[in-house]
Amino acid sequence: METTERGRTTELFESLGGTVADGFPAIHSPVYRTGTGTAYLKAPGVVMLSKPQVNVRGLGDFLEGFDPELGFPAYIDDPTELPDSSQLCKTAGQLCYASFGPRRTTNENAAAYFERLTSAGHGSVLEHASFSFLLYGISRSVTHELVRHRAGVGISQVSQRYVSGSVLRFVERPEYQDDGELHRLFEERVDRAAAEYEEMAGRLLERQERGEALLDAEYRTDARKKVQQTSRSLLPNETEAPMMFTGNVRALRHIVEMRADEHAESEIRTLAVRLFLCLVRTDPILFGDYQLQSLPDGTHKVTTKYRKA
Ligand SMILES: Cc1cc2nc3c(=O)[nH]c(=O)nc-3n(C[C@H](O)[C@H](O)[C@H](O)COP(=O)(O)OP(=O)(O)OC[C@H]3O[C@@H](n4cnc5c(N)ncnc54)[C@H](O)[C@@H]3O)c2cc1C
Repeated sequence: METTERGRTTELFESLGGTVADGFPAIHSPVYRTGTGTAYLKAPGVVMLSKPQVNVRGLGDFLEGFDPELGFPAYIDDPTELPDSSQLCKTAGQLCYASFGPRRTTNENAAAYFERLTSAGHGSVLEHASFSFLLYGISRSVTHELVRHRAGVGISQVSQRYVSGSVLRFVERPEYQDDGELHRLFEERVDRAAAEYEEMAGRLLERQERGEALLDAEYRTDARKKVQQTSRSLLPNETEAPMMFTGNVRALRHIVEMRADEHAESEIRTLAVRLFLCLVRTDPILFGDYQLQSLPDGTHKVTTKYRKA
């Protein structure tokens, strides 16, 4: 029997340890330690923290205010329940043409409704639904690529100026993980980076406290910040850089298309595929045109014929 698209995404989600609690999907990532205790991760952790909640009944009084012959109030009694994000975007789109009457596209045909929009590149109604994610187990090099996406996103990232070495962790690239020599070199390198960071921070702080102020620092946190902002210069690209990432569906679709593409850099592709798996799990309609495909090296890509809605 042929595996459906839904079956493929569910299978990969579950094989990556994906879970859904109260409707919120997550793919967590375990933490490893080197022999001397330096913490590192081998894959992105993606946790959906927020998604839309829609009150369609709120349209009631507005719809009652039109000629009863138009039959608008029945809009709120559509028997087919949609994911809130789909419902929100569909209602936004139907408001444009006052498509609330009996000839409207009902929820049962929501997938076809969105296909008409995405195939025509009319993606603006997708901007109403936003999702927020905690992203961790991602390196500074990946986040530098991710933050290039400006339109329709919100980003809050851990401050290397503010946090101390006590939360320092690293990310091992997939290429190192199955190669004994490269893995050993990685562990040695992150041990060294963590030790050098601590040593540098210690020396700078000592100087600061002795009054050999490198920079003016009236308060203790300020002194710490100035020590850390200097010490971080020696941290490698493979330092973990967790963030809260919010995007509307139009932006998220574009990011999945660009970054889950087979030509995207491998670490960001892994992240984008996980983001997609969480999104399609939550809203199989808004992301229903995407196809998950395996690549020869065992990784995955995501494609759609309706790019850049
Ligand atoms: C495989 C790959 C390789 C890359 N290599 C490089 C590289 O070598 N060097 C490099 O610097 N970058 C590189 N990038 C980053 C790339 O150039 C973009 O900065 C990044 O992908 C963000 O995408 P975006 O421009 O579509 O922005 P988004 O913020 O995601 O914007 C979405 C869309 O909104 C519109 N938009 C956004 N902002 C504006 C604006 N200011 N004016 C008008 N329209 C706007 C555009 O249509 C845009 O496509 C690479 C990206 C990929 C995927």
